[in-house]
Amino acid sequence: MNLLFLGAPGAGKGTISAIVAKKLGIPHISTGEILRNEIKEKTPLGLKIEEQIAEGKFASDSDMIEIVRKRISQSDAKQGFILDGFPRTAVQAEELQNIAKIDVVVNLIADDETLIKRLLGRRSCPKCKKEYNMATSLITKSGKEICDICNVPLSKRADDNEQTIRTRQEIYNKETKILIDFYKKKGILKEVDGEGYPEIIVDRVIKVLE
Ligand code: AMP
Repeated sequence: MNLLFLGAPGAGKGTISAIVAKKLGIPHISTGEILRNEIKEKTPLGLKIEEQIAEGKFASDSDMIEIVRKRISQSDAKQGFILDGFPRTAVQAEELQNIAKIDVVVNLIADDETLIKRLLGRRSCPKCKKEYNMATSLITKSGKEICDICNVPLSKRADDNEQTIRTRQEIYNKETKILIDFYKKKGILKEVDGEGYPEIIVDRVIKVLE
């Protein structure tokens, strides 16, 4: 099954879609993660987009389409995949139709207060990559910003600050929100309540896939 997740920044797309992908045994393809790796590795694309991403702005449609085309042509995606963070524009959504058939689109819904709280609380371990959230049930065991497993200080994403969050929300409202209607018209959109504990949200997603 080919799935994709929509939702405002902070709706939980990354966390929830990664768990669902694991349960279904299909790859979780996060375009944000792919871009952060390009930046970390200082590839030509990474160097080109580093500043844009830190400011909360989008990478170009053509770069994103190429990334996704390449990734979903890999053998592990043959039995299905979950796209997280793509498409984000009408152009990307149109182009995706030429690359793959999407079976279900999950739109995660959370209220504005939850979105901001989650984005500001988001942390991860630079060593083992475990994800935490200091503002939700995903907080560290100690309550301190130290990884439970590696005992090292947690990192924060460069784009999780109040200024950049505002930009990301504005761009989401202008460019991405319209995709809800795009997929609704195609009859493949499933709206899922994104409030509450991750396990409960995952159960809700699994239910709409049955
Ligand atoms: P995410 O991890 O999904 O929040 O993505 C982090 C950032 O990567 C976004 O704020 C965008 O700047 C960029 N990005 C990720 N996916 C896309 C996409 N499909 N189109 C354009 N930019 C993207």
